[in-house]
Amino acid sequence: MAIAFCRGCGNEITDTTRFCSKCGAPQAVPPVAASPGTPVSYARYDDVPVFRKRWFAVLCCLFFSPALLFILYTGDIYLEKDGKVTPIPQYAKIILMVVGVLSIIRILFALLG
Ligand SMILES: [Zn+2]
Repeated sequence: MAIAFCRGCGNEITDTTRFCSKCGAPQAVPPVAASPGTPVSYARYDDVPVFRKRWFAVLCCLFFSPALLFILYTGDIYLEKDGKVTPIPQYAKIILMVVGVLSIIRILFALLG
């Protein structure tokens, strides 16, 4: 619980309080913890699972790009930037997806070939 201030009168309240104890003003509903579909954020790059790190994505590109589709479908790929963990930009995701799809098509053609 963190300290917050009433939106009505500035009274000190906790951030989980729904209504101010002093003036009764309704407060912002506290954010629900990690609802589905919300991108996960990692505090440290070490906390990112190996298969969501950028170098792993690069390895996938080189050796088994269909895995990229699965990784991207289930979440983001992260990189370390200025000491902070950031997801790769949208265009990079699209490029990786295209690479994954193309290689699946290539494999299918090879199998049917
Ligand atoms: Zn108040």
